Order: sequence, then structure tokens, then C-alpha cells
Amino acid sequence: MTQKPMYEGKAKQVFATENPDELLVYFKDDATAFNGEKRGTIGNKGVLNNKISVFFFNLLGEKGIPHHFVKTLSEREMLVKKLDILPVEVVVRNIAAGSLAKRIGWEEGRKLPTTVVELYYKNDDLGDPLINDYHIKALGLATPEQVEIMEKYALKINEILSAFLKDKKLELIDFKLEFGVHKGEVILGDEISPDTCRFWDSETGQKLDKDRFRRDLGDVEEAYQEVLRRLTGENS
Ligand code: ADP
Ligand code: UDP
Repeated sequence: MTQKPMYEGKAKQVFATENPDELLVYFKDDATAFNGEKRGTIGNKGVLNNKISVFFFNLLGEKGIPHHFVKTLSEREMLVKKLDILPVEVVVRNIAAGSLAKRIGWEEGRKLPTTVVELYYKNDDLGDPLINDYHIKALGLATPEQVEIMEKYALKINEILSAFLKDKKLELIDFKLEFGVHKGEVILGDEISPDTCRFWDSETGQKLDKDRFRRDLGDVEEAYQEVLRRLTGENS
């Protein structure tokens, strides 16, 4: 790829294509945490996250969730529908962990009596702060209808993924989604991978996600590899 990316993020590069409605997304091995303060690389992460995301987009598509994935172009590249990304990150939580466990003073691993949906302002300079419907309205980040659609899809995605992963002996603790607008419709974008989800082994509680990098737990690549193996039987 000699062309310059139109956007370079922390984990991916985004390139224009000949089709104005489509973009090429290239998955890097770069990893960041704590709003970019911790940086490193995870061997083969780009390949693994591309494959894992493709798997989840296909699964969700079969269940009626509209998403941006068009086709795989290479091990690290996917073709997607171009979205106007809504600057609102939607986090769904089944079990207290990470920032929620800290915020409400619960120990990590305690089951939430009801699914929790949170909205964050996608803004690196501000460190992606937690916001609510009023902030979204005041800042004009999305319409109330768009928020309702994102929350409805997020809950449906949680049901689909939690049930599917349970069979693979993986507990879906929490995850982050991004949505955008394509031809007037709100659809799911970005990625679904161990970078953006917490997966714990149902039997041992072993963490199989980016927390291994965030918390220096070791065997990071192996954990991502294990998630792909459980989903597809593939060893990358
Ligand atoms: P970040 O911007 O948080 O560092 P990435 O490195 O993952 O994140 O960069 C990918 C960027 O591409 C993100 O900003 C994401 O919102 C954006 N993006 C994801 N899917 C699409 C899409 N289909 N159309 C346009 N932008 C997208
Ligand atoms: N998450 C993400 N990107 C972010 C923030 C969070 O993908 O910028 C994911 C994270 O991997 C986890 C969930 O969203 O699965 C909830 O993250 P949390 O708020 O606990 O933040 P953390 O403490 O992990 O940064």
C-alpha cells in the first residue's frame, strides 16, 4: 500500500478507494491503552483482529444487524462501507470490570443484575468522557432517534454475542461499539475484537483480551489467537 491513509488511528489506518462509498481499513499491530499513555505492539494483532472482526460482522449480519463490512481484501485489510461515524462510543456491560468497577466501587467480576449501556464522547483530546443523552443533545453529537437506534442494536448485539460466545466457553464481560451513518441509515462500524471487548474463559476466568496488554499479564498474542481458535477453529 503506497497511498497515504486518509486517517491513521491508534490501531488502524483508513484509506480511500476508487468507490466513494467504500473505504479500505488496514489493521495494525500497534496497541495503546490509558488514552495513549501506554504504547506497544502485539504480534500479529492486525491479522487476528481483522479475522475476528470479520467473523463477528458476518454473525451479526446473519441475525439482521446492519454493518459496514463488505469483504476481506487481505490478512490485514477489509473493505467497508464509508460511514459518517457518530462520535459516541456505545459500551455494553454484563459484568463489572475496568472503568465501571472503579466508578461504582464494585469488585471486578461481579455480575450486574441488569445489562448496563453507557455512552462516551469519542474525543481523544478529552480522553473519551462518559456522557448522557443530554450531553449528546447539547453537543449535537447524534439525534435522539440515532441514540435510540444505537442502544437498540447494542442490546441486540449483546444478546447475540453473549449466547454465541457462551457455547465457546467465553464470557462476554463488556464491549465497545461504534456506529455511523451510511445513506441515511445508522449502521455498525469499526471493529469487534479482543481490543474492544473483554472475554473471560468461562471455566478458568482467564482474561483473553486487551487487559493482558493493559495490565502486563503476558501471553497477549496467545490470548488473541485463542479467541480466533474458539470462534473459527483457525490458528491464524
Ligand atoms: P482511533 O481513531 O480511536 O485511534 P482506530 O485506530 O481504530 O481508532 O482508527 C479507525 C478509525 O476509523 C476510527 O476513528 C473509526 O471511528 C473509524 N471508522 C471505523 N469504521 C469506519 C467506516 N466504516 N467509515 C468511516 N470511518 C470508520
Ligand atoms: N473500550 C474500547 N475503547 C475505548 C474504551 C473502552 O474498546 O476507548 C472497550 C474496552 O475494551 C472494554 C469496554 O470498552 O471492553 C469497557 O471499557 P472500560 O470503560 O472499562 O475502559 P478501560 O478501563 O478498559 O479503558
